[in-house]
Amino acid sequence: MSNKDTRTEIGEVGEFGLIDKIASKFTIQNRETLTGIGDDAAVLDHGGQELQLVSTDMLLEGIHFDLSYMPLQHLGYKCVAVNVSDIAAMNGMPKQITISLGLSNRFSVEAVEKLYEGIQYACEDYGIDLIGGDTTSSPTGLVISVSVFGSAPKEKIAYRKNAEENDIICVTGDLGGALLGLQVLEREKEVYKSNPEMQPDLEKYDFVVGKQLKPKARMDIIYELSDKKLIPTSMIDVSDGLASELFHIAKSSDVGIVIYEDKIPVSKESYEAAIEFGLSPITCALNGGEDYELLFTIGQSEYEKIKLHPDISTIGYVTKKEKGINMVTKSEQVVPLKAQGWVHF
Ligand code: ADP
Ligand code: MG
Repeated sequence: MSNKDTRTEIGEVGEFGLIDKIASKFTIQNRETLTGIGDDAAVLDHGGQELQLVSTDMLLEGIHFDLSYMPLQHLGYKCVAVNVSDIAAMNGMPKQITISLGLSNRFSVEAVEKLYEGIQYACEDYGIDLIGGDTTSSPTGLVISVSVFGSAPKEKIAYRKNAEENDIICVTGDLGGALLGLQVLEREKEVYKSNPEMQPDLEKYDFVVGKQLKPKARMDIIYELSDKKLIPTSMIDVSDGLASELFHIAKSSDVGIVIYEDKIPVSKESYEAAIEFGLSPITCALNGGEDYELLFTIGQSEYEKIKLHPDISTIGYVTKKEKGINMVTKSEQVVPLKAQGWVHF
């Protein structure tokens, strides 16, 4: 029991501190529960060849999306994609989703139908079934909670915890784009608020805006890894920023990490947008959220399988824990990384 006179602000412990606090109070009671709190998805064993994967994510209006620039169809797609991304991060296949909605009276039937057009499109894209959910009223705003169920053969599951010293660190796609898309959209919103006659000119920013509004789960990479018979030693999806995810892998695997600044993939479009906003492109890549790329580690002997892949970058390697989590800068200085991540509290 906590002392009734003490009050700790959530901001003091942070999102992950709070989750650790919750997790520490629970012990697993069923032998079917192989992995509970602490990875991208829980892992369950109900017998048979395949293990089951379960993950859940909630999106809140005003925190995760702003309907003044987020079309409802895109939002529907995104809330499925971000959940599928957590199954991808376990090297699994998504199979089913449930979707629960909290709706204020601002929303019409037509608006909900638009949301579900995007959800349906994502279900077809990822080959998953919508199997249920819940619908309730909300005092203000839109709340969307999605749970996703998937599966994978036991030997294929990629946890956060099995990275080993000397493994190579890989990341898919490019990073920082979603954060920069958000900066563009926020700026246009301010311009629009001060002068509604002004039409936003977003064409130049199509790429980064697309990264923010239409993220894809990298299931394409999961299929390719499977074709190449390459099982990552560890994997996580980049939802809170590269630095934060590297910390999760390092902490779960009890290892250190070194990455190289000049190897971090940043697209030309993101680079230019960052400079325009007076931001460091690398800081955007390290600390921006919502890229939904995959960060994974592989044994040295597997390097040949990915070395020529156009959409996988090798950014560093796994070290002993004592070495910490560092980045070698372009000027060859070794600087410790900070996991700022995306702070909601
Ligand atoms: P991700 O970014 O991959 O969605 P999170 O950082 O949200 O993962 O969560 C990390 C782990 O903590 C997951 O195993 C998740 O299920 C668990 N978790 C998050 N919030 C809670 C909560 N309120 N109660 C119990 N477990 C939680
Ligand atoms: Mg995740």
